[in-house]
Amino acid sequence: MNLKESKLHTTLSRIENAGFISEDSPDTRCKVGCIIEGDGRILASGFNHAISDGVEWDATINKPNMPIKHAEMHALDKLSDFDVLPYKKLTAIVTKQPCYECLVDLVSAGVKTVYYRDKSSNCWVNGPYDEFVRSNGVELTQIDRTKFDEANLAK
Ligand SMILES: [Zn+2]
Repeated sequence: MNLKESKLHTTLSRIENAGFISEDSPDTRCKVGCIIEGDGRILASGFNHAISDGVEWDATINKPNMPIKHAEMHALDKLSDFDVLPYKKLTAIVTKQPCYECLVDLVSAGVKTVYYRDKSSNCWVNGPYDEFVRSNGVELTQIDRTKFDEANLAK
């Protein structure tokens, strides 16, 4: 395994960890998990859920306009409990491409690198998304397991 494959392997493991976190989401339509790292250490994690605490997620309240806390926001909430000043470059690992609002909040918190597994639909990443990524020098990368498998098969 060369350095690039090794790095991809590590990133795939991190995406898998975010997948485990996503299993805690009570959302029956889309479970999202997010991990925020600094210097390779996991600092915080989160999953999408209803904003009101203690509310069970079921079909009767799972409505389109129900206020949802996104996984990234949940992780950022927990991150604020820590002194993250020593970490100048944070990394976010998310099972789904962050929406624009979450991306802005992640970058504001010091995230420079974002790895995600599933691409988001356009309605979540429209507007000045690409411009924001470019102008803030954000490394935004989709981690594609199939490409990793192909790299392994080629060996
Ligand atoms: Zn979001």
